Amino acid sequence: MEISVISIVESTSVDGPGLRTTVYCAGCGHRCKGCHNPQSWDINSGTLTDVTILADRLLATGEDITFSGGDPMFQAEAFGELAATIKSKSNRNIWCYTGFRIEQLLKNSKTLPLLQNIDVLVDGQFELALRDENLLFRGSSNQRLVDVKKTIEKGEVVIYEPMNLLSPLLMKYKRIEN
Ligand code: SF4
Repeated sequence: MEISVISIVESTSVDGPGLRTTVYCAGCGHRCKGCHNPQSWDINSGTLTDVTILADRLLATGEDITFSGGDPMFQAEAFGELAATIKSKSNRNIWCYTGFRIEQLLKNSKTLPLLQNIDVLVDGQFELALRDENLLFRGSSNQRLVDVKKTIEKGEVVIYEPMNLLSPLLMKYKRIEN
C-alpha cells in the first residue's frame, strides 16, 4: 500500500507532546474556511510512498509520531497499515488529526483499524469563528483531543486531558524548586 505524502517533519513540537515526527499527507475534502494548508487538499499534490518504507523511516527517528495533512482519514486503510506496523515494532505514541468526528469514524470499517492503532485523535473541522491561538495542539475550540483507547473501551468519547501533558513538566519544576 502507498500513502500520498507531502512532507515529513522531524522534531516538531506543535503536533502533540514532546518532540515528534509528523507525516503531512495529501488529500482533504473538508475545505474548512481559513484552512492553514489548502494546497494539501488535492490527493495528487503528494508523493506516493510505500507504507513499509515510511514505517522504517519513522521508526528510525526514535520520536513519537503524528499523522496530519490534509486529512489522513482520506487514506485511512494505508494509514491503518502504517500505524499497525509501527505499533507491532515499537511502543511509539501516535497522534492523528482529522476533520471528521470520532463518532463517525468508529462506525466505518475503513477507518476503525486506524483508530485501533493510534493513541490520540484530534477531531473536528477547523472553524474560523472559533479560532483560538491559546489552545493546545488545535486551532479552534470545537476540535477535541480524544483519548482513543479509552473511548473504544468505554463506548463513549473520552477527552485526553491537557493536564496529563503538563504534569511531567510541573513535576520537573517542583523538583527544581525543592
Ligand atoms: S480538515 Fe484540516 S486540512 Fe482539511 S480543510 Fe480543514 S483545516 Fe484544512
